[in-house]
Amino acid sequence: MSKRDYYEVLNVSRSATPEEIKKAYRKIAMQYHPDRNPGDKEAEEKFKEAAEAYEVLSDPDKRAQYDRFGHAGLGGAAGRGGGFGGGMSMEDIFSQFGDVFGDDIFGSFFGGGRSRGGQRMRGVRGSNLRVKLKLNYEEISKGVTKNIKVKKYIVCNTCGGNGARDKGSVQTCRTCHGTGQIRRVQNTFLGQMQTVTTCPECHGEGTTITSKCNQCKGSGRVYGEETITIDVPAGVQAGMQLNVSGRGNAGERGGPPGDLIVLIEEESHSELQREGLNVVYDLHISFTDAVFGTTVEVPTIDGRAKIKIPAGTQSGKIFRLKGKGFPNVHSSYEKGDQLIHVSVWTPQHLNDEEKAILEKLAKSPNMKPQPEKGDKSFFEKIKDLFN
Ligand SMILES: [Zn+2]
Ligand SMILES: [Zn+2]
Repeated sequence: MSKRDYYEVLNVSRSATPEEIKKAYRKIAMQYHPDRNPGDKEAEEKFKEAAEAYEVLSDPDKRAQYDRFGHAGLGGAAGRGGGFGGGMSMEDIFSQFGDVFGDDIFGSFFGGGRSRGGQRMRGVRGSNLRVKLKLNYEEISKGVTKNIKVKKYIVCNTCGGNGARDKGSVQTCRTCHGTGQIRRVQNTFLGQMQTVTTCPECHGEGTTITSKCNQCKGSGRVYGEETITIDVPAGVQAGMQLNVSGRGNAGERGGPPGDLIVLIEEESHSELQREGLNVVYDLHISFTDAVFGTTVEVPTIDGRAKIKIPAGTQSGKIFRLKGKGFPNVHSSYEKGDQLIHVSVWTPQHLNDEEKAILEKLAKSPNMKPQPEKGDKSFFEKIKDLFN
């Protein structure tokens, strides 16, 4: 099933401000909220779809990536390297986006949802981490799995992330009696409504810590190092970002982790130059090889290839090795070509004997350039290549 455009899902323009996006999400989430549509599968799907769209469009990094590359740009591309949405459970949605609804009247609906299944907003979400990943042409053309070491906050293994010294140090919050919420009945223009606010004592966690973990001083996380496996799909480009969901900094006191955002960089190649999906190689041949023709070996992204230079090859000629370029990251069956741009090398140092031969040759009428009428100009050749 093809995914709907996220802007379409939230019914906003592509230039919508963060406030407009938040407002639009709120409206849709209210409409399809499971508490209002009990047992309605279609409403649940719509609710999840909106949450997924909001997850991406509310994050400036993810939104920029989506604007550039569409759904495929979001790491979920080709089903590799983590990604977004789709698999989000209702609990994820409530714990991640509950705050959109704030402590206002909407909170009453979401308060109900949040405690569903006994889950409460716990701790503070860890921040996203950005790392750079430099890849060579071969890795880019085939796709690669990289293990990288990342310095980051990891879950404290002494306390398991809750920040408490021991089990007895975790106590039910006395202010909210463990619910994490304070309920109040309020009179509004719609009549009497129950509102729910986050408990100020435990910040919605429902528990308080009486004695903190020695290792993490109560934060539930420590600074450390983690080796993370990143699946890079074939055909990525410099400047592209891959999102590895949940591999950023650990959250505080058991909060959800942030994401790892991998910025792709390209290692330059000593002989080849990338031009989008194509790869360009400058081939210099001698004057005599141009006259008589020859076979030469040229570098390609993966190993070397032999090409035939026909007799009478002109400078500026472009040979094409079909399918020897980069794959399209969005559709792996589409591949670029290798373009071999020929220059005829003019000798600069000749001895007297060589000069004498050439001087004799210079007088021949065959040495006079005679471009045929039908010969295409360089400009036309370039145009042909891109058609
Ligand atoms: Zn700890
Ligand atoms: Zn409380």
